[in-house]
Amino acid sequence: MFQDFYNVILSSVLIWYLLIFHIWECSHDFLMYFSFENNEILQTAAFICITSTISAVTALPLSIYKTFILEEKHGFNKQTPVFFVKDWLKSYLLTIVIVPSLSCIAVYIVKIGGDYFFVYLWLFAMVTMLFFMTVYADYIAPLFDTYTPLPDGDLRTKIEGLAASIKFPLYKLYLVEGSKRSVHSNAYFYGFFNNKRIVLFDTLVKDYYKSEEKNDNDDKKGCDTEEVLAILAHELGHWKHNHVLKQILIMQFCAFGFLFQYPQLYQAFGFVNEKPVIVGLIVVLQFIFSPYNSVMSFLLIILSRKYEFQADRFAKSLGKAKFLKKALIKLGKDNLSFPVYDWLYSSWHHSHPTLLQRLKHLDKED
Ligand SMILES: [Zn+2]
Repeated sequence: MFQDFYNVILSSVLIWYLLIFHIWECSHDFLMYFSFENNEILQTAAFICITSTISAVTALPLSIYKTFILEEKHGFNKQTPVFFVKDWLKSYLLTIVIVPSLSCIAVYIVKIGGDYFFVYLWLFAMVTMLFFMTVYADYIAPLFDTYTPLPDGDLRTKIEGLAASIKFPLYKLYLVEGSKRSVHSNAYFYGFFNNKRIVLFDTLVKDYYKSEEKNDNDDKKGCDTEEVLAILAHELGHWKHNHVLKQILIMQFCAFGFLFQYPQLYQAFGFVNEKPVIVGLIVVLQFIFSPYNSVMSFLLIILSRKYEFQADRFAKSLGKAKFLKKALIKLGKDNLSFPVYDWLYSSWHHSHPTLLQRLKHLDKED
């Protein structure tokens, strides 16, 4: 509630003081100061740099609170302040290199695209997304965390066996040192066509998670081999049913082409004489579309829960139901997830069914 309140205050200030307009003016002065020629593309780059900096800074207090107070209190946080600052700087630098470049290309496309610019913009968004999904894990994620190949052993052999049994084109198998960041655990796969990689968090795998607290072996967090396999069977269910691709296609709904031309939109945000493309995009996507975005995200959440059940059924069809149930309970416990939710709250907020729903679903007769 506090976070929502904070964000409402921020956007109200943004609208009330016509900040988008003033930042646009600032970026003009900025270009003049460094005696750049004044054109819309360059001004867009400056504008995005300034707005990205503002949002990186305004997001900081809540992020600090979450990491060092909330997560810390429950024993999840493993970040030192130095690690946190480095992380923040890295992602900030990455943002102000990537986002302005992409925005400039988008603006250029709108300018030369004519009446059907949104078709080209959609294509551009699609290509960019696929591009980043390809390079993210190899070039971007390693800037933040250490990825090492999973060592040879029982777990590796069995995972390779599982992948082979369902013809999953496993190309690489990584262990990521998530324990430097937090004790939350996870596993995922990524990659295209015949280049799939699986990533396991070290916090997920009992044998590789080095906790500083010397507990009895029974108390150790993480899952044993069969349970990790059951979780992977679930993840591979997402692959088998093409869930990622389907979700990307559905998310690509864009229809702002016609709204975009209305001068009233620009006037409302303080622009009387000019209609910068980037402002049109921001205003439409962020403000005009916000009811539409809420409805879309609700529908996507319904779809995502459906996919989770489908992936669970896939794991069950591989005979992993028993271990998947054990693993889900263990993960719930390790991550301190609360198991009981009001159905209404849950159906609005949760992309995954609750633990109890999943256990019940796994128990159901086929
Ligand atoms: Zn899933």
